[in-house]
Parts: sequence; C-alpha cells; structure tokens
Amino acid sequence: MIEAIYQKVAERDKHEPEFLQAVREVFDSLKVVVEKRPIYLKHKILERISEPERVILFRVPWVDDNGEIHVNRGFRIEMNSAIGPYKGGLRFHPSVNLGILKFLAFEQVFKNSLTTLPMGGGKGGSDFDPKGKSDNEVMRFCQSFMMELFRHIGPNTDVPAGDIGVGGREIGYLYGMYKKLRNEFTGVLTGKGLNWGGSFIRPEATGYGQVYFAAEMLKTRGKSFNGLTCLVSGSGNVAQFCTEKVIQLGGKVVTLSDSNGFIYDEEGITKEKLAFVMELKNIRRGRIKEYAEKFSSAVYKPIDPGLGYNPLWDIKADVALPSATQNEINGKDAQNLINNGVFCVSEGANMPTMPEGVDLFLDAKILYGPGKAANAGGVATSGLEMSQNSLRYNWSREEVDKKLHQIMINIHKSCIDAANAFGLQGNYVAGANIAGFLKVADSMIDQGVV
Ligand code: NDP
Repeated sequence: MIEAIYQKVAERDKHEPEFLQAVREVFDSLKVVVEKRPIYLKHKILERISEPERVILFRVPWVDDNGEIHVNRGFRIEMNSAIGPYKGGLRFHPSVNLGILKFLAFEQVFKNSLTTLPMGGGKGGSDFDPKGKSDNEVMRFCQSFMMELFRHIGPNTDVPAGDIGVGGREIGYLYGMYKKLRNEFTGVLTGKGLNWGGSFIRPEATGYGQVYFAAEMLKTRGKSFNGLTCLVSGSGNVAQFCTEKVIQLGGKVVTLSDSNGFIYDEEGITKEKLAFVMELKNIRRGRIKEYAEKFSSAVYKPIDPGLGYNPLWDIKADVALPSATQNEINGKDAQNLINNGVFCVSEGANMPTMPEGVDLFLDAKILYGPGKAANAGGVATSGLEMSQNSLRYNWSREEVDKKLHQIMINIHKSCIDAANAFGLQGNYVAGANIAGFLKVADSMIDQGVV
C-alpha cells in the first residue's frame, strides 16, 4: 500500500530526486506504523503530507555594483501547518531548485514536530549565489527577495530563518525590508541580531544541538566526547559551532571543509584556530585553504570529483559530524567511516548521507543520528526566539542554552521511545521519522480534510 502511494509521488515529482529520496526514507519507516494504525491510510495522510500546502515561486530582479540587471528565482514552500505556522530556513545557493527546497521543507515538518514546539514546516530560498558579491549587492538582492516574500509571511503564518548562504547579514537585510514594507516590528524572521529581537544561542544552536544529540547517543554506550577524535565537514554556521562544542566537551576536531576542499589538522583545531576560521569565513569570507597556509600542522586537499569518494571521510576517527550539505556521504564514504573506526555519526546538515550509506550505518549498528533529529536544535532555538518575541522579553544565554540542551535530550528520548514502540530498537532513523510523523498526522486527522 505504502509502495503504491510512493509510486504515485515518484511519478508526479519525477524530476525532484532529493525530494523523492526524503519521501522514500520516511515512507519506509512508516510501514510498521500503518500496519498497526491503518487509520492513517483511511485519512490519506501520506498522500497529503507529501504534497505542499502551497508553493510560491517568484522573480527576484536586482542590480549589481556595475549597474547590470540580474534575475534570480525565489521560492517559498509552505509544506504543512497542522501543528503551527510554517517554519524553516531560506537557502541562497546556485544549486537551489524546487526539488531541493521540497525535500528540505518535507524534512522540516517532522523535525519541527520532534522539537515539541508548535511549528509547522516550510523552506525557501533562491538560486542566488552570495559568494563573491559585495555587501551592497547582497543587500539589494535581499531587499528585492523580500519585496515579494513579505506578502506571504507573518509571525502567525510563516516564519523563515537562515540556512546555507543565509546568515546574520542576510537576515538583517531581509528583516529591514520586511519592517519597512509592513510598518511593523514583529518576530517574522528568526536568527535576528541580538539588538533587534534575536535570541542568545540561536547562531550556536544547530551545531551545539548536534553535539548534544551525539553526546546522548554516546551515553547509551557509556561514552562521552572526552578524548574522541571527530571529523567535521563544512566550515559555515553549523560546522563552526559544532566544532566549538566538541572542543568544550574535550573532543578533538581534525577536519573542516568548504566546496573547494578540506583541511586535516592532526593536532586538532583549538579554540584559537577556530577563532581564525570564524574570522576567515564570517568576516573575510575566504576559503578554508587559508587555514593550512596559516597553520603548519594542517594539510589542505582540494576536492577531486573524479575520485568517487571524499577523503575527508577516510581518516581514522571515532565520530563523524557532517555539517555541509545534502548527499555528502555516499556508500563508499560510509564504508570508509566504518572501516576507520567511526562508531557515531550525528548529522548537522540535512540528509548528508545517501540511502546506501544510511543502510550501511544501520547494518553496522553504529550510533547514527539523522539530521531530522540531530540538527533540530537550530529550529528549536528559533522557536524559543519566537516565544521571546511574543513575550517581548529576552532570556539569558544560560537559560536558552539550558532549554536547548533539554530539548535535544528530549528529542533523543522520543526517537528511542518511538523506535522501541515499533520494535526497531537502536534505529534513530525510524525513531525520528515515526515520532515526528505521529503528532502531525494525528493533528491532520483532527483538523479534517483541508
Ligand atoms: P553555511 O552557508 O553557513 O555553510 C555551509 C558550508 O557547507 C560551507 O562551508 C559551504 O562551503 C559548504 N557547502 C555548501 N554547499 C556545498 C556543496 N555543494 N559541497 C561542498 N560543500 C558545500 O550553511 P549552514 O552551516 O547554515 O548549513 C550547513 C548545513 O546544515 C545545511 O545542510 C543546512 O541545511 C543544515 N542546517 C542548517 C541549520 C542552521 O541553523 N543554519 C539548521 C539545520 C540544518 P562554501 O562556502 O564553499 O559554499
């Protein structure tokens, strides 16, 4: 039955491979659920949950510093609002298309449900590439993007945040234009600056949460981060704060990457070296290669697309923390990780492991925390930012961090409990999908056919 439903989705959305990959994984996990509870089939929940409530697609014209006009494509996928306003990030990257944003929006529905906060799922973005653009060009693009998006979003309707290519700078420009157009100061975006409605710990939240989740998984085997060697990919928001938290917990991070290549620092990335990376990436907007030029303990390897695997994942280590992008670990990479002794993988990125890699991790019975659960700390803290905006009150850094930590502990427990309830002990993929699904599906039934 589920297979037939999937085939219909696959036929309809055949040009959206990432979306189909995400749907397939969730549907596979739900087989055991609908066997026990056929009510979800009767109410056509799977057909409904895999179709966005609304897709907005728009033109984003902007002018570069030389007076040249450019046109990009803007998107917002409003996937599911059964348990709260649409919530999910905006991605600015040349690879962005409808299928990628639909996969991210679909994942977001389950992830947001797992946080226990009242947030539906959405995602958006543009094929605009902020790399190599001046601040003024990025500002003009963001303003043009918001000139259309503002009419579709609002604090009780749809609350976007950051993702790849959208950090504090972009959220600032987007928020400024929203405020001007609406003439109101509301919590319509999260990831805002601390001076104008942001929350402590929001920039740190995804990476910190990813490590908190991994720490919970490690606990189940009587271990902690202390003394463990970790592989981190990416060098953006998630990778930076993931690295910071690992260092705080006594672990050693030996790799970071960007889309050109990766660095391997056998001695480990210290607090001081991380400060260099943050300045390099967030202020100078340079390439990770410069890390190896600055620190002689590190070597740099450029990406070699002909290789068929990523040597970053072929280094002896205990823990892998993929934090760059989707499908960055293929089957060969997953096998290399296992062969090199990695026994814990906690995903900061969304869907970084390809299906064959997921199968290998599950078969090897390593601790494998899928992004939906492991990176939910970002959106959870966005939820906390929304609560603070509604209260017109700011919690302290310590308060937000404590709440984030507790949320990650709870998500970990929900995954374990849901997996156990359906006889799938130790399978965090099934646990996350099932726990995330049940609340949304039951709410959809309660609310009728809408
Ligand atoms: P950033 O833009 O801050 O950083 C992205 C990093 O990944 C950069 O180092 C970038 O390198 C690298 N990267 C991006 N695309 C590719 C690619 N195709 N191949 C290789 N490297 C790539 O984004 P974030 O850190 O915010 O996001 C990273 C991941 O985490 C994404 O999957 C995102 O969806 C996920 N995520 C983010 C959340 C958040 O709160 N920010 C919340 C939950 C998940 P380069 O600079 O060369 O492009």
